[in-house]
Amino acid sequence: MRTTTGWGPGQHAAGQYMTTPADDLPSAHTATPESFAVPGFDAVVRLVTHSLGVPVVSLVLNSGAAYWFADGNELPAHGPRALHPLLLQAARSLAPHVVLDAFDDERLRGTAVPLAAGPGPMRFFASEPVCTLTGQHIGALCVMGPLPRESLGESEQTALRDAASLIGAGVVLRSYLGRTDPTTQLPHRYAFFDDLRTHLHEGVPHAWVIAIDVAPVQRFNAFVRAMGHVYADELMRTVAARVTQQMPAHTRLYQVGATRFAAVLPDHHMLDDTSWLDDLVARLRWPFDCLGIPLTIQPGVGLLKINADELRGGDPLRLVMNASHAAQQSPRGWAVYNRMQDEQQRQEFLLVTELAAALNEGAELDLHYQPRVDLDSGRCIALEALARWHHPTLGSIPPAHFVALAERAGLMHSFTQWVMERGVSQLAVWRHAGYDIKLSLNVSSTDLGADLVGRLRSVAEQHKVGLDALELEFTESTLMEHSAVTRRHLTAIRDLGAGIAIDDFGTGYSNLAALRQMPATSLKIDQSFVRGMGSSPHDEAIVRSVAELARNMGFRVVVEGVETSNIYESVLAMACDEAQGFHIARPLPSSDVPAWLAGHQGMPSRRAVRWGQ
Ligand code: C2E
Ligand code: MG
Ligand code: MG
Repeated sequence: MRTTTGWGPGQHAAGQYMTTPADDLPSAHTATPESFAVPGFDAVVRLVTHSLGVPVVSLVLNSGAAYWFADGNELPAHGPRALHPLLLQAARSLAPHVVLDAFDDERLRGTAVPLAAGPGPMRFFASEPVCTLTGQHIGALCVMGPLPRESLGESEQTALRDAASLIGAGVVLRSYLGRTDPTTQLPHRYAFFDDLRTHLHEGVPHAWVIAIDVAPVQRFNAFVRAMGHVYADELMRTVAARVTQQMPAHTRLYQVGATRFAAVLPDHHMLDDTSWLDDLVARLRWPFDCLGIPLTIQPGVGLLKINADELRGGDPLRLVMNASHAAQQSPRGWAVYNRMQDEQQRQEFLLVTELAAALNEGAELDLHYQPRVDLDSGRCIALEALARWHHPTLGSIPPAHFVALAERAGLMHSFTQWVMERGVSQLAVWRHAGYDIKLSLNVSSTDLGADLVGRLRSVAEQHKVGLDALELEFTESTLMEHSAVTRRHLTAIRDLGAGIAIDDFGTGYSNLAALRQMPATSLKIDQSFVRGMGSSPHDEAIVRSVAELARNMGFRVVVEGVETSNIYESVLAMACDEAQGFHIARPLPSSDVPAWLAGHQGMPSRRAVRWGQ
């Protein structure tokens, strides 16, 4: 018996291979023989044909691509045009299949497609699923013969099973070597680099690299957790097929990450007209049919222009990923790599790492405290805690900057925890020393989870500070963003006795109905209006009317950004309860607070004005 196989042109003189694309799969999606060589395959085929006495062996991948081997040289060069449904079913099933006589089998009646394009009709069929060493199901090893059988013996079944596991191991080996992805059968990252290098050394001045991100990693992981790997693999296969269809002709697609494809565009004029990129994004935004479930992805297409010098020592995939990642968030869905943006992101990433370390160690972070003065008495009744980060090389980083960074990086939970613990423990010391003051703490929208209430209560208990001595400041936009859920948490905070302030009021888009329903205790008029009062009668009118409105709605009114004595005098005459600003005091380091409190003579007040009259 002579076995002929088809792994790679020229490898076997009588080699016959074919890739049968199933009807629903684009032909570009099937692997070329050269990209799908499995080490040791020859030996496996020999083993199977000998042990089972069959002339036709086929490896059918669950992508629908099939590889055929025949004893003798009678297979037509391109095999059957369509894959028999039984083969596809076997490839996509985790169970072995046996058909002793196809002529007698109900399931096969009425199918015009032959089992194999072999020498005459095939009547016997058996298959065994092929899984990689990591347990990934990639298809089935199928054997076929022209004669019907009475049974399939145990030793034959074992031989088929062994052969299937050897193939699975070979596929793993092959992909370990970095050439082919076992799921999509696309060439891997190393092949991409090799080809890019070759392309750039063929004399072209530069190349355009394209990367396609399927979905943000977290979203994809959530999908895998919900649906399992079978769906995830199928999704990647169908996406790969659609990307391939949309790519310019003669483009070889590579799988360069779990959810990422890349290619080198064949012609560097490809970007003279970018309408094909809009089409590509539009097509990728259409739902995919993933084993009967319609799914949409969040594609991002990135492009990078690169020359041979830049390739040396550079990491083109990192750069182009930067663009595809940015594109995922953009309405257009594709973006060209932008060096400045990349630099900014790198800085941001480094800063986030350093902020996380600073939070752990606590040495570079500090709180400053800015006094708030009661306008009736002129006395300081509260302090606002404001975070400070002194970076060892960059110096002091504005809180508006690093707070936003912490929000984006998911560090807010531990940051706010740090602020609460540091602020409340400090307040306990001052109150113990006899200063009757309250403390307000800034919290961000990401803090508004269920446990904020519990965290606040336990910090207050730990330091024996009454909750009525604490106030949380939320920006107006935070409060308006998620009104229903927010209101529940805020009500719980208020029930504990703590205050709630609406910070930076006037910068968001509150509607009065929503505002009325907010269980807040005070409203802080944004400093941009307050600072403008000296020069703009409009700003003065805004502060006056907002103060009146807020007070009529039952809020305590605080004006921030009081920078001059004139502004201070003006707000004294308005419906305002408290003032805060550089004119009264700048934010102070904790060590300066007791001296400031002790030496503070009190600001001009309504009471004093009345008594003076
Ligand atoms: P904010 O809560 O509205 O704090 C008031 C800001 O205005 C502070 O800026 C303060 O230094 C500044 N300020 C006070 N009076 C005046 C004045 O008269 N004139 C001028 N020009 N500015 C004045 P800072 O400390 O830079 O904080 C900026 C923002 O960063 C804060 O605005 C707050 O939104 C946020 N932030 C600060 N610390 C924290 C924190 O611990 N947690 C959270 N979530 N956010 C914080
Ligand atoms: Mg504030
Ligand atoms: Mg503010």
